[in-house]
Amino acid sequence: MTRAKTFETGAAGAARDAMLAVRVHAPGELRVDELPVPVPAPGEALLRVLAAGVCATDRKLLSRGAPGGAARVLGHEIVAEVVSAPPGGPEPGTRVAVAPNLGCGRCDACAEGATNLCPDYRAFGIHLDGGMAEYLLAPAQAVEQGHLLHVPDALPTLEAVALEPLACCVEGLEASGLRPGESVLVVGAGVMGRLHVSAARAMGAGTVIVSDLEEARLEHARELGADVTVRADEPLGEAVTAATAGRGADVVAITIGVASAAEAALASLARGGRLNIFAGFPPDSAPLRLDANDVHYRRLHVVGTSGATKPTLRRTLALLAARRVPLGGIISSIRALHEAELAFREAGDLDQARVVLAPKGEVR
Ligand SMILES: [Zn+2]
Ligand SMILES: [Zn+2]
Repeated sequence: MTRAKTFETGAAGAARDAMLAVRVHAPGELRVDELPVPVPAPGEALLRVLAAGVCATDRKLLSRGAPGGAARVLGHEIVAEVVSAPPGGPEPGTRVAVAPNLGCGRCDACAEGATNLCPDYRAFGIHLDGGMAEYLLAPAQAVEQGHLLHVPDALPTLEAVALEPLACCVEGLEASGLRPGESVLVVGAGVMGRLHVSAARAMGAGTVIVSDLEEARLEHARELGADVTVRADEPLGEAVTAATAGRGADVVAITIGVASAAEAALASLARGGRLNIFAGFPPDSAPLRLDANDVHYRRLHVVGTSGATKPTLRRTLALLAARRVPLGGIISSIRALHEAELAFREAGDLDQARVVLAPKGEVR
């Protein structure tokens, strides 16, 4: 990574004409650039970024490059303060969380608010410049179609920044038909696995079981509300049977792309149980073996989810605002923009939870 020339900070809160931005320029090439602060056209909003999460998608974009090979400001998990917005948009000075996937607005998916599934979707931090910068421009479409979600005063920025990844977990648990009191098995206790625990607790799950190889991650999962944790090298079926009085797990979330782990979890499902393939699997991974008779006679459901719809993001924000979601320790590191390279390294460390970039390295 090369560092742009030293940047002078101006008066707090005042928009300046230059800013730092973290961009991927080519596969593996991350730079902190000095760019002009975007100037909003009519209908657009200018946001001052408060925090942006570093997630696996950002690390994938860094290793592969942005679509079309463009130099792109990364970051789609964004909380920002409104500097200026058109009439009818959010009030200047208020905080917003960004629903990152913009859809065409016309297709069936968009009609349901599932802009993440629109064939022509464009996302902040992927197709549009994202939140790893001091300022962010929101296109008119984002303002008009309600992608700038008001963050209530009582909700801290460091919890609001978990909105997008948390909403993906809520989406998965809803797609799995989770009902209050039902048991949930989360396979993998990476940050998305741990956020599944938070989401399951907030959504009224009964027994929550988590499996992972690393005791430190399992310990954090317990702090977030997991009732039972299982080392991945121990027999999963026995542990689930014991934790559910012989019934099996009503809902399983697969948060790591490992076929053998998913197969073991399938065998741990209760009759009528639902399994969500939440994680992407590596292209060279072994195919998932599914026993057709097991699915047939035990009435199992296998679903998949990727991302979150706008309605889910809104409901998840309401859950956060109600302070119902255990999130202690989910932000494990806060770095300034000029520390982006370090932040991306930390984000790749499985012992970390969420690493957040904040323009000045702190979040108030
Ligand atoms: Zn993400
Ligand atoms: Zn669409």
